[in-house]
Amino acid sequence: LWSQVLERLQLKLSRPTFETWIKTASAERLENNCLVIITPNPFARNWLQKYYINTIANVVQDILGHPIEIYITVAQGDAVAHLGEAEVSWELPNQSVVSENVDKKGQTTTELNSKYIFSRFVVGANNRMAHAASLAVAESPGKEFNPLFLCGGVGLGKTHLMQAIGHYRWEIDRDSKIFYVSTEQFTNDLITAIRNDSMQSFREHYRAADVLLVDDIQFIEGKEYTQEEFFHTFNSLHEAGKQVVIASDRPPNQIPRLQERLCSRFSMGLIADIQTPDLETRMAILQKKAEYDNIRLPRDVIEYIASHFTSNIRELEGALIRAVAYISIWGLPMTVENIAPVLETPSEKVEATSEAILTVVADAFNVSIEDLKSNSRRREISWARQIGMYLMRQHTDLSLPRIGEEFGGKDHTTVIYSHDKIAQLRESDRTLAQTLRQLSDRINMTTRSQK
Ligand code: ADP
Ligand code: MG
Repeated sequence: LWSQVLERLQLKLSRPTFETWIKTASAERLENNCLVIITPNPFARNWLQKYYINTIANVVQDILGHPIEIYITVAQGDAVAHLGEAEVSWELPNQSVVSENVDKKGQTTTELNSKYIFSRFVVGANNRMAHAASLAVAESPGKEFNPLFLCGGVGLGKTHLMQAIGHYRWEIDRDSKIFYVSTEQFTNDLITAIRNDSMQSFREHYRAADVLLVDDIQFIEGKEYTQEEFFHTFNSLHEAGKQVVIASDRPPNQIPRLQERLCSRFSMGLIADIQTPDLETRMAILQKKAEYDNIRLPRDVIEYIASHFTSNIRELEGALIRAVAYISIWGLPMTVENIAPVLETPSEKVEATSEAILTVVADAFNVSIEDLKSNSRRREISWARQIGMYLMRQHTDLSLPRIGEEFGGKDHTTVIYSHDKIAQLRESDRTLAQTLRQLSDRINMTTRSQK
């Protein structure tokens, strides 16, 4: 059964995915309706579990004609033999590490994440103003920017900055009451208070804050009762000269069903937005994170990761964690080549057309498609042709003779020769490796845009 499964998966998945995650696993069938897949290490297990279990289940069901349960486990024995000194988390990155406690009055207090401090925040053109305002607020709360309203897309550092204010404040004044709360928690506390008839203590609790940090306020949309109560909490704190900081994924006037009076309160201090970071800032963020975690990263690896994850810093960090875990578990050197399989977004393979490949190659080497199909032995033409054959083998499931046909009827041995030659050169020639990567990206882009 497993070899049949492998055969079909090979057609469905991209080559690096298949080679890295599927080929290294083995399987055992228990009784009739249970298949156990054994992976060489916990990292591979998590990866399969997270991204490929459905694909595998579908294939198995196709073969057997009925669904069966699939378990993924780790082989016993030297599963962690390759683990170096580097501390590596097996789990894929978590959404949140903030822990929650419920205090005696039934209100939720959330501890601050110890990593969300100013010194770990990289300042770039995209967040300069938000950072400066946060620092000003942390130094003199309740003065200039009250409230401070931070807005920006998901994973761009709003929560980080907000909590940095909390940490900084607390360092200066250990007695000051700093409350960090998500809008959802505020709502839950309110509901609990209403149920338990303890509105009095709810109000006392929130109005005792010196600094109130409210995250993801966009979720207050349409919640009339929460808005009403928050309005009073806000006013009470503001009048007492206490600092309020609010974070949102959009500016106040774009939150639907937000009471006009709240909207105007939110806008009376400073609205500071965070944009997506540029490449340089993304690289600096990776660099800083690596330094904190004691990981040495070559510059081209940083650049590679930074150029693949452009719009969300949480994803950027997740990619780095995956790459480091992967490298350390398989005992590989940290190179762009080696980390590519974990950075590739898991997705089913999109088969490129031979036209797309010929077009991209001809364009890149400044030759014509006719040249590629011709028998010309001119250096630059035969070089481009060999690269084209290599790429066609990588990007399609065409047989060797078929690839030969696409290049004007060449023999399949010519295709093998070209493929192996380029594959071998690629190992030692970094410029070539980079060129091939760029061509691959371009082929993928062309293919996707054709679908
Ligand atoms: P948001 O609340 O805007 O969705 P977060 O504050 O949770 O985003 O940030 C997501 C992740 O990215 C966090 O791990 C955070 O530490 C990190 N991060 C965001 N911006 C920066 C930055 N400028 N420098 C360093 N790390 C950052
Ligand atoms: Mg957040």
